[in-house]
Amino acid sequence: MRLWGPRNHGVGGGETKINKVIVRVDTDAGIYGLGEVDNFMGVHQAIAYMAGYFKGRDAFSIKSVVSEMLYGTQAPHPADAVRGVMFDQVQAVSFCSPTATPWGPVVWAASGVEIALVDLVGKALRTPAYNLLGGRFREHAKVYLDRSSPDDTTDLDAWRKMAAGAAEAGFTQMKFDIDFMATECVRDVWNRTLNLGQVNRVVERLTAVREAVGPDFELCVDCHMQYNVPDAIRVSNALAHLNLLWIEDPTPIVNPDSCAQVRERTSIPVCIGEMFIAEQFRLFIARGACDILHPDILFCGGMHELRRIGEYAELNHLPIAFHGNGGALATIAAAHVGVATRNFLGLEYHFIETPWIGEFVRRDVPLFRDGQVVLSDAPGLGVELDREVCRRHLAPGESLFD
Ligand SMILES: [Mg+2]
Repeated sequence: MRLWGPRNHGVGGGETKINKVIVRVDTDAGIYGLGEVDNFMGVHQAIAYMAGYFKGRDAFSIKSVVSEMLYGTQAPHPADAVRGVMFDQVQAVSFCSPTATPWGPVVWAASGVEIALVDLVGKALRTPAYNLLGGRFREHAKVYLDRSSPDDTTDLDAWRKMAAGAAEAGFTQMKFDIDFMATECVRDVWNRTLNLGQVNRVVERLTAVREAVGPDFELCVDCHMQYNVPDAIRVSNALAHLNLLWIEDPTPIVNPDSCAQVRERTSIPVCIGEMFIAEQFRLFIARGACDILHPDILFCGGMHELRRIGEYAELNHLPIAFHGNGGALATIAAAHVGVATRNFLGLEYHFIETPWIGEFVRRDVPLFRDGQVVLSDAPGLGVELDREVCRRHLAPGESLFD
């Protein structure tokens, strides 16, 4: 079921749209599970593929579902694997992922299905999802807010007000996007540079933020994988006096060596990996290219993969934060993993100005309290769709689940 509506937090200010896919996995026991995915290119088709491919399988086989989608199986394949053409001339593929890669729409769709399966199994066993992951280290999961930038980036008071508002609401960490903080200074949108004027404006604006929230508030910045090595180092060093928690994805993500060069020459911890699956984190850790891991539940393969990455980070004595582009459902799912992961720092939320994204599922506790995602002892993820909110935000041509 696709949902569609305003996204008042556009990067760089202003209103854009957001498009979500809600996944429901039904069973012959009458129990169902709910998941969420971003409606990126190819995701809807990948979910249709998985619906055909996994029909009739055991809903408790959560880890094998994700593994089979990402890597396939060896011949003669599981006895109940689908063979041949499934629908619309789409061919079932068993020996590798349906795209012969573990990246992109395959893992994004599998993430939503996996979240739904965890919800389903929790309901069947009448226990919260965090208990399926070994139980809680902490009661609730800390949230950090993505703030990007105010509408008028040249107004320092707007920066101070935005920062102070988040602190007053009980949050203790915020993130800003370097690539959207001073776009009026950009002279070339192709060459991966940060000119000195842009660096200076970023420093001024983030200094105003630091003054507004005080010395103990955690601040971090995101580069969205945009910059060349020397400019990523230059902006890091120019921001060093602000005592940031991290600088995120400074260089394009496919090259751990360039990221390692940035890390060697800056004092700010380097955080990476919002689009990574587990193996990519292994590569970056092995090359000394990161200080903090930052997977996203919607892009890494769901709850168990998120937890697996957390445990690998812990073995390397590294902390993990969760990137979050999700709405209420994905955020709650990530929180279940966060409380069950020892080295968890916090999870990101983007949509504090867009209530419907936090309200399309209902619980008997609020989404946030004192800067944390509140968790209860309700089975599974402890959520149900709010049919009225979903009805109001159905994508064109879409209808509510029965
Ligand atoms: Mg990011």
